[in-house]
Amino acid sequence: MTDRGILFVFSGPSGSGKGTILSNYFEKYDDQNIKYSVSATTRAPREGEVDGVNYYFISTKDFDNMIKNNELLEWTCYCDNKYGTPLKAVTKMLDNGTDMLLEIETEGAVNVKKMYPDAVSIFVLPPSVTELKHRLTGRATEEKDVINKRIQTAIKEIGMADQYDYVLLNDSLDSAVEGFRAIVMAERFKTNNNKNTISEVLKK
Ligand code: 5GP
Repeated sequence: MTDRGILFVFSGPSGSGKGTILSNYFEKYDDQNIKYSVSATTRAPREGEVDGVNYYFISTKDFDNMIKNNELLEWTCYCDNKYGTPLKAVTKMLDNGTDMLLEIETEGAVNVKKMYPDAVSIFVLPPSVTELKHRLTGRATEEKDVINKRIQTAIKEIGMADQYDYVLLNDSLDSAVEGFRAIVMAERFKTNNNKNTISEVLKK
């Protein structure tokens, strides 16, 4: 275990496959030392989404109260809905040595990097814009104007990929999962994250 948990920030446009990469990662590696931060949102749940698992689905009033009470590590407005990372849960886990994974959009990611320069940011790229459009249209859980808005937002987000520490091209799910594993492991072995381990070894 590293001295303190590592804060991983994971972004990628809607349709980039970032959720699938993460679910495959956890299925394949059963990595107990990294936990997914559950965000709060004012967006309505999609079919199959569970409150407290995918998101905390809350009202705009409750969300605004969280902002007012400094309960959010970061927050943003995305496609007319608010999304934010609950602060306490994240810092508590990091203090306990557990790595945390924030799956958030680009604006939030850039803000997190400013506040926590040691955070490790990863951007998932779809193979192409054409493929992205295809995936978003095929999802068909949303109205056409919502889909079009997401496509425009996605293109804008890809333009911010160069501000991230790592880029994962999701042209094959397996290689993207392996890429994510490689990043997580390399970060865990960094000297800066293991100063306590060095002194512990010297004491023995
Ligand atoms: P969706 O509505 O598709 O679940 O999420 C829309 C976007 O909001 C995604 O890019 C997702 O990563 C991002 N998002 C989810 N939770 C948060 C959060 O707590 N903060 C920020 N900044 N973005 C979030």
